[in-house]
Amino acid sequence: MENKKELRSWLDAFGLDHPLVIAGPCSAETEEQVLKIAHQLKDTDTTVLRAGIWKPRTRPGNFEGVGALGLKWLQKAKEETGLLTTTEVANANHVDLALQHDIDILWVGARTTVSPFIVQEIADALKGTDKTVLIKNPVNPDLALWLGAVERFYTADVKNLGVIHRGFSTYEKTKYRNNPEWQIPIDLKNKFPDLPLILDPSHIAGRRDIIFDLCQTALDLNYDGLMVETHYDPDNAWSDAAQQITPARLDQMTVDLRIRKKDTEAMEFKNMLNTLRTQIDVVDDKIVELMGKRMKIADEIGVIKKENNVAILQNKRWNEILGRMIQDGELHNLSEEFMLKIYKAIHQESINHQKKIING
Ligand code: PEP
Ligand code: MN
Repeated sequence: MENKKELRSWLDAFGLDHPLVIAGPCSAETEEQVLKIAHQLKDTDTTVLRAGIWKPRTRPGNFEGVGALGLKWLQKAKEETGLLTTTEVANANHVDLALQHDIDILWVGARTTVSPFIVQEIADALKGTDKTVLIKNPVNPDLALWLGAVERFYTADVKNLGVIHRGFSTYEKTKYRNNPEWQIPIDLKNKFPDLPLILDPSHIAGRRDIIFDLCQTALDLNYDGLMVETHYDPDNAWSDAAQQITPARLDQMTVDLRIRKKDTEAMEFKNMLNTLRTQIDVVDDKIVELMGKRMKIADEIGVIKKENNVAILQNKRWNEILGRMIQDGELHNLSEEFMLKIYKAIHQESINHQKKIING
């Protein structure tokens, strides 16, 4: 994975002056649907038409895709509109069929990236082709598994690669269908700055009203592209209805999004500053979220202290925490003075919380 230019060349070959846009329905439903959406997207910034043919569903009984039949519809859409095409492949047989139907870009789904055996099978099936493969993050927040999948393709001599950030599943429900965990793709981007990184806001959001903000954050973080689920009648889509947007909305979004161009040196500085600031915002959000979690646990401790009539302040425990955190701080290059200040403040907030519970 050393040859940096090589990793970007498939994307640079498009010669776009804006991030790559991949759009289209979650699932190919009928030939008419695929063709109608393709024609609507032709007049937007879209370069690649997406449509799922084989749909991995978490629970059985939902629409599982039209199968190989849909590949012909994508081929026809490409002939009629000039859009490139992409679909998800989840085994070697899917790869063979997609190659036979001249699908331009293949993507590996989040439920496939978690399985090294299947990733290897797909990589082997593609050996020696110059297909572009986009690898979605695994469903669980594991950077190594994501990188491992990229390496399996690279080692199988599939060099036209990119990654898609589609969020990570959590047991607890959040406002997202899949938690973005921006830090993970940021870490990946820092490791391989030239590996094209594409946002799939649709599967992160699970609902259409927050798609725009997710896309803007991605552009502020210098992502290379967007993959947005798009349908002319989103509410009646056969899968993922709540998160799809219309081609008209996509078109408006690409006008409203602030895209950071990299032309002058001053712009380059501003871009860099902006990217780093967005990274700081991501980390700050995480810090507040974690502090909130910590206080919730302190509240629970408050409840059991009240039930058992135990004093709030436990000096021995507090000194242990402080000692451990000062040591941890040292490992992360944080001074003792800073750790003391921060932890005294956190501890005071915990005490205030518990006081409220015990006196309340
Ligand atoms: C999809 O893109 O429709 C899809 C199934 O994605 P994921 O693998 O991210 O769930
Ligand atoms: Mn979908």
